[in-house]
Amino acid sequence: MAKALDITQAGPQTLAIHAGEMPDPVTGASSPNIVMSSTYVTEKPEGFSASELTEESPFVYTRWANPTVAALERKMAVLEGTEAAACFASGMAAAHAILLAELSAGDHLILSDVAYAGIAELTRDTLPRLGILVSKVDTSDPANVAEALRPETKLVFLDTPCNPLIRLSDIQAIAAIAHDAGARVVVDNTFASPIGCNPCGLGADYTMHSLTKYVGGHGDALGGAVCGRAELIRPLISEASVHYGGVMSPFNAWLIARGAATLPLRMAAHEAGARKVAAWLEQDPRVARVVWPGLSSHPQHNLAGQQMQNFSGMMSFQPAGDAAQGKAAAERAAAELALVHYAVSLGHHRSLICYLPSADMVASSFNLEGAQAEAYRAWAGHGIFRLSIGLEDADDIIADLDRVL
Ligand SMILES: *Cc1c(COP(=O)(O)O)cnc(C)c1O
Repeated sequence: MAKALDITQAGPQTLAIHAGEMPDPVTGASSPNIVMSSTYVTEKPEGFSASELTEESPFVYTRWANPTVAALERKMAVLEGTEAAACFASGMAAAHAILLAELSAGDHLILSDVAYAGIAELTRDTLPRLGILVSKVDTSDPANVAEALRPETKLVFLDTPCNPLIRLSDIQAIAAIAHDAGARVVVDNTFASPIGCNPCGLGADYTMHSLTKYVGGHGDALGGAVCGRAELIRPLISEASVHYGGVMSPFNAWLIARGAATLPLRMAAHEAGARKVAAWLEQDPRVARVVWPGLSSHPQHNLAGQQMQNFSGMMSFQPAGDAAQGKAAAERAAAELALVHYAVSLGHHRSLICYLPSADMVASSFNLEGAQAEAYRAWAGHGIFRLSIGLEDADDIIADLDRVL
């Protein structure tokens, strides 16, 4: 039997490959097996209550824990540098696990006013029904968070770089402000990936991911993860996994772990491709503005340099002209792009693009008014293309965009 690898000394690429995995002790298989079993034969009678579940419990039932999912959880914890991680069926299941674990009737949530639309809508439509108070705040200025804090504030939920503006929030500054007021901090780290940023290392209590995006990386498996201290993750598993039941399929865990093995290599390539495409877009007269954290024109380029180790492949750009011209550009893109797929989602090896008219975003997903709506338009104008740079040759991505802009 091979010796166990000491991962405490290993570099990120080694960790991405080996963390959570080892050769199969029975067969010697080098690649991990998928354990699809829903139930497990135990050596002695085991309890049926989530409250009896501990770190040492054997596998009992796959809604409680599964060896293939547990291996991915270990890999995610190692990649984020946290004690523990829990995986869920999707990024939304991961977000919902944190929100319902932390918030009860009468509690107050501060949420980034521009966040993933599903999370914006969940906190707008469902949480208030449960008696939870929600304030949407432009978290790109930590002073706005300080101003919104109340004695009942339990949680501050950040999305950085945020979807779809690619606007940043200062994790370290906001964590200090929130902790002083007794609130915990969640960062949706999907756009940066664990290679670009490790929010818990900057003071966040929870880091969440849609693994459907960069970590899985191939557009073929939904998944979500929450990383953090063991004392916070353990109750998430007993409550959200065992009782809400939105657990990850072992097959998806196996696919996502296979994707995660190449995450550091892919992120370096996504960033290199994005650098070339952003530079090309920025000099093209058909483009009014490009927003990518790696560009010196990004208003928070310095903050990006401080809290991101990789600028990722996510950018937004505004087509020149008015809203009607933006819509026409979107129609051309959907009809005529050949390499870049006109589709939602992101972080895949294939480049993906979609157009988000500001009038729709402000009115539907985000419900922004007054100064917050103005702040949105200050970044997005009449509308933006959100572009996820894939792993194709940057020159080919540029040629495809050049034909249709
Ligand atoms: C996609 C996404 C989510 C939701 O993840 P799913 O896996 O689709 O449920 C949450 N946050 C961000 C930033 C996302 O891009």
